[in-house]
Amino acid sequence: MANSTSQDDAGPEYYPIHIARSDGKGYTNLDYNALNLKEDQDIQQLERWEVILAGHLQNQLAPKEDKKQYKLAAFPKGYELRCAIRKDGGRDYYTYGHPAGPKASYRTPGDFVLHILWLASDSTDYSQCSCDLCFRMVEANKQKQAINPSVDPSTTANAPVQPVTNTTAPPRPGPEPQPKPQPQSQAQAQPQSLPLTQPQAQAQPQPQTQPQPQTRPQPQTRSQALSQSQSQPQPVQGAPPPGTTGLSNIFRVGEVVWYKHTAWRLGLILATNSKTNTFGGDDTQYRFILAPLGHAMLNQQNVTKEAQDMRPFLTFSVPNVAIDELQDKAFTEVDWQAFATRYSEGLDADQRAMRLQMVGLEASKMAARHINDSFSTFDKMAEAPTADRLFLIQTYAGVYFGAEMVRVGDLIRVTGPSHTDASSAADSQPDATTVMHVDEIQVATAAIGAVNPLPNLQFKGHLYRTIRSTLPFPPGVVPAETLGAAFVEEVGIRNQIEHDKKWKWGWTLVQQDAVRMVADVQGRFYVTHKLMSIIDPDAFQESMKSGVVGSAQSYLNNRSHSGRGVFIDRKPSRGATLGSAVRSPFTAPEGMLEN
Ligand SMILES: [Zn+2]
Repeated sequence: MANSTSQDDAGPEYYPIHIARSDGKGYTNLDYNALNLKEDQDIQQLERWEVILAGHLQNQLAPKEDKKQYKLAAFPKGYELRCAIRKDGGRDYYTYGHPAGPKASYRTPGDFVLHILWLASDSTDYSQCSCDLCFRMVEANKQKQAINPSVDPSTTANAPVQPVTNTTAPPRPGPEPQPKPQPQSQAQAQPQSLPLTQPQAQAQPQPQTQPQPQTRPQPQTRSQALSQSQSQPQPVQGAPPPGTTGLSNIFRVGEVVWYKHTAWRLGLILATNSKTNTFGGDDTQYRFILAPLGHAMLNQQNVTKEAQDMRPFLTFSVPNVAIDELQDKAFTEVDWQAFATRYSEGLDADQRAMRLQMVGLEASKMAARHINDSFSTFDKMAEAPTADRLFLIQTYAGVYFGAEMVRVGDLIRVTGPSHTDASSAADSQPDATTVMHVDEIQVATAAIGAVNPLPNLQFKGHLYRTIRSTLPFPPGVVPAETLGAAFVEEVGIRNQIEHDKKWKWGWTLVQQDAVRMVADVQGRFYVTHKLMSIIDPDAFQESMKSGVVGSAQSYLNNRSHSGRGVFIDRKPSRGATLGSAVRSPFTAPEGMLEN
């Protein structure tokens, strides 16, 4: 094979890295040409890939103080760099060997390294790899199985990968730097400081949360490997609703989030994977596959992140657009292809790449605002005209509302009642967040020919606030157990934090059967301990120590701060809302019907 460079060939200036296992298929009859080791360009390209791949591994896995230069001793077994000679004599290089098939190839070392990182982990689950080929392969298999559940499992790509002997331990992972979120004063939820930085301002790449490379892959039987990858999507009794990992957990499939990638970036949760292959547990028990927001034509790779490296969208506000030409435009008004071409033309390759990154950042901000101003519904429960026939009322089990997914039974932050209709509100803490327990999600559409035909999204349910009181509780306090898990968790943690045990926390009813339109809904309510454990674990520990309950919700913005201030727009599906903002097509979680 052309890539059988041995350790001795690595040369004196590079330290060799061996990739201990491979799933490469070593296909015969591949497209294009095997490398010609008498051809200087081919040799240079092979070396370039090996050095770049090793450099990425070093960035991800090695301690910061490690300044050695590394090079792959060889491509993982069964993978091969091949050369396509263009009509003008130029040469393009592709890496083949991925189990997705003989036509599947990586075009750049940066694409391939994601898969190599997965090979260096102890995972045998392709859905945990963040490379593009694995993502497509897993999606294709899911669809194949949905259409034909009896498809021969041996033809799917879930066969266990073969451990290969000949190992040299790759560099050890370094300590992970912890960027701080920007907390603010208790009282007000102002938009917060800007998490996105321009590419030129980027610091050193940080090690991401990566699987441990030292661990040898565990040999698995085929049935084990298959049961992990195939049994998950089936609705299971006791399983959380589609797209969620638990009703009081933070992150859900289809939501826009911030994720740490040198700077904070905007992404969309495409899928979640349980680390233990079981349901239950908080967000830290899951990995999240994210599609970077931007534009599909930029071909941004999906990334896999853990909850500690993610934030709810409303934690930060979206920075203003930095390129003049894009000011005051909507995401969908820009011809991104033409803009990117114009913005990067006449530059050398490095400058061009930098410019395209900037285009991607701007696109991500504008896409986020566009999504923030959109909604789409799922799981319709009822549909009927009003008695006067002026409106059609549709009732749904859930809605993608801006960045978030809201379901019946969730808690949402809403504007409080006016004083006249809420005498009991005086008993609660003055700065307590008003939450609605969502009983109904309705879309009212005016009959054809009406003056205002825009569909109107509204939420119905009782309003509550937390209250701190000595026992017995005043009238109006409702036992949390009768309200749901999130209510129970919230007072539970507050009572746990409270040092002076004469004080007890409860939920007090502030208004029955309230209705809130979109402008009055600020976003989902996240239970204190889960939100704080993710966005500011130090402050949470401090709160536990001091016995003072902080207002976790003050870390969050209101939804209306993040849009463009235009009417909220109904879309037929989450995928339609996203449009070309992500490269990977969004498929609704299994069991969810968008309608
Ligand atoms: Zn992969």
